[in-house]
Amino acid sequence: MSQLSLYNTLKRRKEAFLPLNPPHVGLYVCGPTVYGDPHLGHARPAITFDILFRYLKHRGYKVRYVRNITDVGHLVNDADEGEDKIAQKAKLEALEPMEVVQYYLLRYHRAMEALNVLPPSIEPHASGHIPEQIEFIQKIIESGYAYESQGSVYFDVEKYDRDHRYGKLSGRNIDELLETTRALDGQSEKRRSLDFALWKKASPEHIMRWKSPWSIGFPGWHLECSAMSTKYLGEEFDIHGGGMDLLFPHHDCEIAQSCAALGKESVRYWMHNNMITINGQKMGKSLGNFITLEEFFNGNHALLTQAYSPMTIRFFILQAHYRSTLDFSNEALMASERGLSRLMEANARLEKLKPATQASLKLEGLRQRCEEAMDDDLNTPIVISQLFDAARVINLVHDGKESISETDLQEIREVFRIFIEDILGLVSESGSTTNNEAYKKAVDLLLNIRQEVKQNKDWATSDRIRKELTDLGFEIKDGKEGFEWTPPSGI
Ligand code: ZN
Repeated sequence: MSQLSLYNTLKRRKEAFLPLNPPHVGLYVCGPTVYGDPHLGHARPAITFDILFRYLKHRGYKVRYVRNITDVGHLVNDADEGEDKIAQKAKLEALEPMEVVQYYLLRYHRAMEALNVLPPSIEPHASGHIPEQIEFIQKIIESGYAYESQGSVYFDVEKYDRDHRYGKLSGRNIDELLETTRALDGQSEKRRSLDFALWKKASPEHIMRWKSPWSIGFPGWHLECSAMSTKYLGEEFDIHGGGMDLLFPHHDCEIAQSCAALGKESVRYWMHNNMITINGQKMGKSLGNFITLEEFFNGNHALLTQAYSPMTIRFFILQAHYRSTLDFSNEALMASERGLSRLMEANARLEKLKPATQASLKLEGLRQRCEEAMDDDLNTPIVISQLFDAARVINLVHDGKESISETDLQEIREVFRIFIEDILGLVSESGSTTNNEAYKKAVDLLLNIRQEVKQNKDWATSDRIRKELTDLGFEIKDGKEGFEWTPPSGI
């Protein structure tokens, strides 16, 4: 375990430094608002923080990973006015709001499982933590930073900004924000335009509603994360993550709520993954480039030239640093598919390699270079390039062009297991056709029969098997010790 390495990781990011408390790490990540099919925008934060979760555990930390489910209070347009996203969907489909939540949450979990994203330690629902949110609001009111207005409660941003600083995470300041916010029309319950809702009184048609000291209503969106992170990770915890789109206002509001209620900032480090674009454009339903994960997996979308397996999507996301933007295109995904299959093929070959007593190659520092890359702000693209370098060595040894010692072979096997499987979470896709055991055995059987008929000089049958498999797109290589085959691409 190395506390120093994580120290360096976080220090490099030029953020306020406080040491973590090994062996325990508290990690809170803003999870999805469950009102639609999971898409790429869900995959990136889930995979980014899955890598952090896996790596911290690899480093010997005991991690309590909390990823919430937003099932109330997230209004359309992320604003204080308008319908709840879930209630809106429920009305549209004539369902109970919790039926919508259940339906999409199951689909989210299924997609995450396919992407080999580990489940968090706790997955709390906002709707299951209404008393905690009410208590949190009461603390903010007691500290003087919130006020009640016609049954709703608002956070007093300007007052808070005078004593602390509002917008410190995003680097925005209140004067600029005031300029870009439309002035109140005099009808609003808010005192000032920047104030945000902590509790909203429910209008008669609003179906998601709970009792509170102020009105029958529902909590503001930002509040759930402050209340639930405090409940499960304490008033101070190590890492809070989420997508870059949540940095402002969501996370700046969370900081303000915690400072107001608890008298201190709760979070030691903030981590934000960058956004995903599709063919250079922002992803959006109105742009026609909104592709769900299921559509990626089955290829049923006009923009997709083929299906992409969950591991291809995962590998593609890991080939970029989490703080870079990531652009999805068929070309880039196909390149990832090829890269991944090269890496997994080398991983499979590793099992069969034999060490040499007189090694022609010496392996040095592979594990260290991979760990250094991970310590450097989770630099997964560098880890992957290190693994590709090692894959070239594996292939040279496999082809008999180079040889390595027993110790080096053991080390590569160990590093591949740790980094490919445990940390990057890449697994062979047993459900897919390429890795289906029965399918592999069937092709092997055909080629074994071909070997037998060749020995009997039945050239016609041997050629026929070869030709028909080749016509189907299989590549067959005959070698001294038998045959090797690769499946048609796209399977
Ligand atoms: Zn949140």
